[in-house]
Amino acid sequence: MRPFGYIDGGLAAGPVRLAAIAAEVGTPAYVYSADAIEAAYREFEAALAPARICYAMKANGNLAVLRLLAGLGAGADVVSEGELRRALAAGIAPEKIVFSGVGKTDAEIETALRSGILQINVESASEVRSLSRIAAGLDRTASAALRINPDVDAGTLDQISTGRKTDKFGVAWDEAPALFREAAALPGLSMEGIAVHIGSQLGDLEPYRRAFRRVAGLVRTLRAGGAHIRRLDLGGGFGIRYRDETPLPLEGYARVVEEEVGGLGCEIVVEPGRRLVGPAGVLLARVVAVKETPERRFVIVDAGMNDLVRPMMYGAWHDILPLEAPAAGAETRPADVVGPVCETTDRFAEQRPLPPLVAGDLVAFCEAGAYGAAMASTYNGRPLVPEVLVRGSRFDVVRARPGFEESLALERVPDWLARPGCGG
Ligand SMILES: *Cc1c(COP(=O)(O)O)cnc(C)c1O
Repeated sequence: MRPFGYIDGGLAAGPVRLAAIAAEVGTPAYVYSADAIEAAYREFEAALAPARICYAMKANGNLAVLRLLAGLGAGADVVSEGELRRALAAGIAPEKIVFSGVGKTDAEIETALRSGILQINVESASEVRSLSRIAAGLDRTASAALRINPDVDAGTLDQISTGRKTDKFGVAWDEAPALFREAAALPGLSMEGIAVHIGSQLGDLEPYRRAFRRVAGLVRTLRAGGAHIRRLDLGGGFGIRYRDETPLPLEGYARVVEEEVGGLGCEIVVEPGRRLVGPAGVLLARVVAVKETPERRFVIVDAGMNDLVRPMMYGAWHDILPLEAPAAGAETRPADVVGPVCETTDRFAEQRPLPPLVAGDLVAFCEAGAYGAAMASTYNGRPLVPEVLVRGSRFDVVRARPGFEESLALERVPDWLARPGCGG
């Protein structure tokens, strides 16, 4: 069930009218339902306990969202020092944090080691050596897992597949056993497990089954050689419904985990991102103008590709709902819903059947809680969009819209330019 629905003709998050939020905060604005995030987290807990749930915070790194999840017991999967610091600032315990990513710098590794996080997932021979060197230099032991590339096609969008041998992620399947053994013998390293993440927005269980089966085979091979493996990080990728997809069945996923790796006696880590926050968020926008040309009906809104880039980056679909329910029997006509950014690709939907809309009307882009605000930029001099969290009948701004002065604050005009009449 969607966390957003019409109450007396107005789209609402629980009992809170989205139009009331737009009136107070302005548009564009992201709105998240804390109740929906909590329900999604509970669903993972119910299906997968006692697995560790490390929220892949790149989906939505807002501090309040992190604090909410931390309070529910979630850990975090981070992919940069910025995310690590954010997770710690939100109160997520270091021993619940996993550091993933294909290009960690020495400085990032050092911060992770000093923070005492649960695990660093290493993705290449050179990273294995760097981690050992840095940990030994700090007189620490790095708890690590080897991320392998299982060469499995997740069957999702090309741009968000990560587990094929042509993708940059993980250690090639054939090289994994030798590299794991090499790593286990290095100073400063405690190789605790294997990690795998095959892609995002998976609707089908079979790619997971194939990947986990390969992981299990690797664990058996390594154990036969004397390795101690106590943790398996199975990644994220749990698909949601944007248009007509069937969300990945979590009970089915749990069964696959049990069948493929349940017998290995390892602690299990999962890293859901999208599934925890995607359906719990909408992006509110206001119609600036409607332009009818002989070819098209353009609905121009005040949100742009800098605020929500998924349609432009992946050709992704987001349902678009008017905040005021259309009159019963209102006719729908195709419209191109576009933003104000000076790019032809700044288009959220092409020839989308929509009810009548006029300037001033409000719309919501659905399922925008994941990879929405997190991927936003300030292109075209547009400030980052504010974020609002709804809980029960209250709502709070959890990131303010930056002021114009703030957006200039880090920029400097060098004095050779500041001096009048001097060409440098
Ligand atoms: C992006 C990512 C995730 C989360 O993916 P979702 O599709 O949002 O669940 C989990 N683990 C790793 C390593 C990732 O890069």
